[in-house]
Amino acid sequence: MRSIFLEKLERLFYPQVCSFCDCLIAEDKGASERYVCRACESDLPFRFNDEIYPDHTPFLLVVSFYYEEPVLKALRQLKFHGRTDFASALAPYLYASYRRLKLSCDVIVPMPLHHKRLRQRGYNQAGLLGEALASLVGIPLVEDALLRVHESGRQSERKGREEKMANVQGVFQLNEDLLPALQGRRVLLLDDIVTSGATMTEAGLCLQAGGIDVLAMACAAGGLRIN
Ligand SMILES: [Zn+2]
Repeated sequence: MRSIFLEKLERLFYPQVCSFCDCLIAEDKGASERYVCRACESDLPFRFNDEIYPDHTPFLLVVSFYYEEPVLKALRQLKFHGRTDFASALAPYLYASYRRLKLSCDVIVPMPLHHKRLRQRGYNQAGLLGEALASLVGIPLVEDALLRVHESGRQSERKGREEKMANVQGVFQLNEDLLPALQGRRVLLLDDIVTSGATMTEAGLCLQAGGIDVLAMACAAGGLRIN
């Protein structure tokens, strides 16, 4: 599986290019850590004062970007085309949201993929984002804490919130082997994209039912700008 560590290692040997536009990033201070040039950064659809996602879920849900270009394309590239550098490119902005909201978590748990999906794709994009964010925050990532035991249908095809919640009920199971790594710790549940929040809520409730403290949930992108 690709890892963020390998990704960063490779980057030491190649010129620093912007993940979005492929331009060379100026070799100023901290350039080796940057994946986004200044021009592309100024085009990102930040949610800014809207970072706390509207109350679709009982958990505090922090979302850094609207699900709009160029983040929309970046997340598709990360998810379907092996562009793992986008996990490193986007994680610093999730970290900025994390700090702005003064979150203080002990571990990050990424939203799991069903094992069939994981086998097809070869990696979990939420796990890669989690790995990059965990290294910035300086806390561990606990992958596989949650298992996705059923494949749910497409949430976008479900209409109301209740139908969406019913569609994801029983989709997750706690991995009993990893309970000791989570008990007594404040968990940040992480995903790449959120729509209704029903799937993340179900995952959060599953952790809570195991006695685990879900302090917050975070997502790279969700929602559209209201113009
Ligand atoms: Zn750029």
